[in-house]
Formats: sequence, structure tokens, C-alpha cells
Amino acid sequence: MIVIRVPFLWVEGMALFPLVLVRAVRPSAVLLNHERIHLRQQLELGILPFYLWYLLEYLIRRFQYKTHYLAYLNISFEREAYAHETNFDYPTKRPWLGFWRYRHPA
Ligand SMILES: [Zn+2]
Repeated sequence: MIVIRVPFLWVEGMALFPLVLVRAVRPSAVLLNHERIHLRQQLELGILPFYLWYLLEYLIRRFQYKTHYLAYLNISFEREAYAHETNFDYPTKRPWLGFWRYRHPA
């Protein structure tokens, strides 16, 4: 994982395999672990399919949940990452296509 600081980044962190872009000078371990989970998701799906899926699912969730923030939180990739961001073993121990079990609301 290569972490690059981007002071004008519009979000706290963003995974763009193999990079993680962060806004803070000292990003938290939890944020980095969250982004590490996204890197794993990108590796297993392929980078372009990941982003296409992410965008398509965002649009579906936006229709379902109405607001940008709720739509974002309910993307299956985000549900998986938020559910496990404090488990630092998770990126290496997660099941193959682990996001799939997060496709429906908990
Ligand atoms: Zn995320």
C-alpha cells in the first residue's frame, strides 16, 4: 500500500489501487485499514470493474436511500469496509469476494 497525501482531497481517504490517497498529515490506522480493505476488493474484482460496480451500486442506493451519504454508506464495498475497519487482520483474512455478503442491509 502506497499512501500519498493530497491536502485538497474532498474525502478523508480514497483507494486507487495500488495507491491510497489521504487528506490528513497523519491518517488514522482505522482509516488506512478501511482503505486497505478497498484495495483488496479492487484486486479481486479488477480495478475498472470495481469502479463501475461501485458507481452503479451507488446510483441504485441513491434511488433507494435518497441521500448521497446514506447511498454511500450502503454500497456493499463500504458496508464491508466499515464493518471491519477496526479489525486489522481483516484485509488479509477476509473471505474471497467478502463484500458480497454485504449486498443487503444488515
Ligand atoms: Zn470506503
